[in-house]
Amino acid sequence: MSNRIAELAREGGVVGAGGAGFPTHIKLDAQVEYVVVNGAECEPLLMVDQMLLVRDALRLADMLEEVRQVLGANEGRIAIKAKYKEAIEAVKEAIGRYPQLRIVPLDDFYPAGDEFVLVYETTGRLVPQGGIPLEVGVVVLNVETLWNLAEVREGRPVTHKWVTVAGAVVQPGTFHVPLGVSIWETVKLTGGPSTSDFAVLDGGPMMGKLVKNLSDPVTKTTKGLVVLPSTSPVIQVRARPLASILHQARAACCQCQECTMLCPRYLLGHELAPHKVILASSYLGSQVGEPITAAFLCSECGLCDLYACPMGLSPRRVNQALKEEMSRWLKNPHKGAPSGVHPWRSYRRVPVKRLISSLGLKHYERPAPAKVVDILPRRVVIPLRQHIGVPAIPVVNVGDKVETGQLVAEIPEGKLGSRLFASISGWVTDCTSSAIVITSDVRQEEDREDETCVGLNRI
Ligand code: SF4
Ligand code: SF4
Repeated sequence: MSNRIAELAREGGVVGAGGAGFPTHIKLDAQVEYVVVNGAECEPLLMVDQMLLVRDALRLADMLEEVRQVLGANEGRIAIKAKYKEAIEAVKEAIGRYPQLRIVPLDDFYPAGDEFVLVYETTGRLVPQGGIPLEVGVVVLNVETLWNLAEVREGRPVTHKWVTVAGAVVQPGTFHVPLGVSIWETVKLTGGPSTSDFAVLDGGPMMGKLVKNLSDPVTKTTKGLVVLPSTSPVIQVRARPLASILHQARAACCQCQECTMLCPRYLLGHELAPHKVILASSYLGSQVGEPITAAFLCSECGLCDLYACPMGLSPRRVNQALKEEMSRWLKNPHKGAPSGVHPWRSYRRVPVKRLISSLGLKHYERPAPAKVVDILPRRVVIPLRQHIGVPAIPVVNVGDKVETGQLVAEIPEGKLGSRLFASISGWVTDCTSSAIVITSDVRQEEDREDETCVGLNRI
C-alpha cells in the first residue's frame, strides 16, 4: 500500500514535469533521507521554475514539508542557482517555519539540473551509473512537479502546463496552457515568431527536441518552446541527418578528447568517454564492446556537440542512435558505483554565461514573465502516452461530454503509467489508440482559417 503522497500523485496524474515524465507516484512510494527540489533551471532561456518559486514559495514550502514528513526524510533541500536572487529571497521567507527545509545555492553552470549532478552538488552523494537517486537515499522533484502535487492536494488534477516561450519571438513569456493545445497556438501567445524562417525546440536550447509538426500538442513534459532561426547552430546540429553525422564523425574526429573532458557524466566518474564511443563507432559492425555500450550512460545534455567539439561533431547524436539500436537487444551493462569524481571537475564545469555566448543566444536573453491567460483552444489533442510507461486507457467514448478536470484515461492495471484528465470542457470528438481529442463546447465566434485558438483573454 503506497503512502498518501504517492497516492495523491497517482490520483492527480502527476509526472516529472522537468522533461523526464516519470510517474511521480512510483518515485514517492519510498522512504529516503533527503528530498531534493530541483530549481536549478540550467537550460538557457527557460524560466518556469524560478517563476514558480517566486510566485508560490509558501505553497511549495508547505508541500515539500509534507512530502518530507511522509517519506521520512531528515531534510528537504531546495536547490536554486545563487543568481536567482528573487527566488532565493521568496523561498528563504517561506521556509522560515520549517527547520528541516533549507536552500542549497548552486553555482551557475550547465547542467546543474541533471539529476546525477544535482544529487552530488546538494548531498555529496554519487548516484550509481545506470542507477537512480533512490539508491543513495534521495528523491529529486522538479519545482513544477511539487507545484502540481500542491494543486492535486487542493483538488485540481494535472490539466495544464507552465511553458516558457522564448527566443526569436515578439514578446517572450511563461504561460499556463491547457494540455493538448497545439505548440503553434502556444507560440502565438508571444505575438509569434520574429523571423519568417524559424524552427521550434520542445525544451531548452541544449536538450530540447526539434518540433517536426507545429500542430503537435503541449504535453505534461513540455517545459519550454524555444523559437530560433533555422540557421542557428542549435537547430543545425539537430537537423543534420544521422548518416551525415556518422560519416563526419568517422572522417573528422581528431581524438582531441575535448568532448570527454567536459562530459558531466565522465566528470562524475562514469565509464562514459564520448571520444572513445566516436572512435569505436567508426568500426561499428565489427563488435560491440565497452566503449560503445557506454553510450547507455549518456544523458544527452548536448555539451559535447553544442559546446565542446572543435570539429562540429555530435557525439550526442551518435550516442542517441547507439542507445536506440542497442536497447532492442541489450540491457545497460554499466552499473554500480562510479570510479570517483574527477579531480578537475570543478574547473571543467561550463558557466551558463559562456555557454549562451557560444550558442549565439545572448540576443535572446530577455525576461519571460509569467502571464496568466484564459486560453480556450477550439480543441485539444491529449496523447495517451506523455509519460514514461505504457499508454493510458481511455475511459471516455466519442460523443461523451466532459468537463475540465474530468478523468479521461486510466493507468492499465499493474502497469507503469499516469492518469489523464480533460484540460477543457467539451465533447470527445475522437478517441484512437494514441490520443483523445476534445472539442470545445463554447460557441466559437471567431473562425479564422489560420487560427485555431479563440477566446484568448489576458486576465
Ligand atoms: S571533441 Fe570532437 S574531435 Fe575531439 S574527440 Fe570529441 S568528437 Fe572527436
Ligand atoms: S551528451 Fe555528450 S557531454 Fe552530455 S552526457 Fe552525453 S556524451 Fe557526455
